[in-house]
Amino acid sequence: MRPLDHEFLSAQQAATHQLLHAIQHDRLAHGLLFVGPQGAGKSTLSLYLAQKLLCPQGHESPNLSGCGHCGVCHRVAQKSHPDLNWVLSEKRREAENESRETSSKKTSDLTIADIRSLCQSLLLPPHEGRAKVAVILDAHRMTPQAANALLKTLEEPRPNTHLILVAPSKDSILPTLLSRSQVVRFRPLQSESVANLLEHEGLSAEEALQRSVASDGSIEQARSQTHLSVEETKFLLDLLSGSEAERVLQLASWGQDREALTHLLAGMVDLLAKEVHNPQPTWLPSTQKHLLLSIIEATVEAQNRLRKHGNGQLVVEKLFLNDIPVFSANPRTS
Ligand SMILES: [Zn+2]
Repeated sequence: MRPLDHEFLSAQQAATHQLLHAIQHDRLAHGLLFVGPQGAGKSTLSLYLAQKLLCPQGHESPNLSGCGHCGVCHRVAQKSHPDLNWVLSEKRREAENESRETSSKKTSDLTIADIRSLCQSLLLPPHEGRAKVAVILDAHRMTPQAANALLKTLEEPRPNTHLILVAPSKDSILPTLLSRSQVVRFRPLQSESVANLLEHEGLSAEEALQRSVASDGSIEQARSQTHLSVEETKFLLDLLSGSEAERVLQLASWGQDREALTHLLAGMVDLLAKEVHNPQPTWLPSTQKHLLLSIIEATVEAQNRLRKHGNGQLVVEKLFLNDIPVFSANPRTS
């Protein structure tokens, strides 16, 4: 087992144990529902479970994984094994391909056509022997018609067919699907786990630690932390160390460009996280350093409000004029 695999599985120990226990006692349900916050490792664990179920040596492994070396394990990891159905919503397909051109024309939902073609392929026996596994990411994005189309497959499963639904919470899934699924809960990752994972992925220990602080328990969020340009960094530092009047002035042009705002807030979290570990503060009076974590929290909250379609201008005004105190009354240490 690679160190990274071990790190991921131990970070989600409860979920891993629940699945292993079910497999060892031959009680793994046909329908599984993985619920938990984004970036907690749900899709990664889906792949490990698929390896465990499809790898010829999977049943011999004491861990929730296949042998990790054979062609089957390799193709599962690449999501190219014919007995693994990896079903993505249109929104996620676009995110993975980073192509935004079609977003206005297509729905972000999982449609009845997506689910019907999945159900048809699950009626066929496995191509290579042991089992069939289907993973539906963003299961909460299924239209009601699509969810209904899936019901029959959940109710009358073929032998050795496993369906993994992945969603942020139980509430986001139709009760009819929920009642036919075995629920596996994922918790936000500990920041220590996030740091270890990033280090295994090749970041320096220092960078991994900095990113983990503001990761909110999400490996995806930690991976995607934004790096700001020199001008953007200067702009943010001026804003943070400015008086209230200066802040009002600088904020006047904010909120118009949502994408730029999202980028700046993400970069700001990164900047603040670095400040936590910086023995020589770049903008915050050293007497105020204890406030950093609450400022990071306020910024993450602002990101959430913006994501939930909050008005950009109101979001930054609340953040800089209400939530983050003005520090300029204190001597600056720069
Ligand atoms: Zn294998």
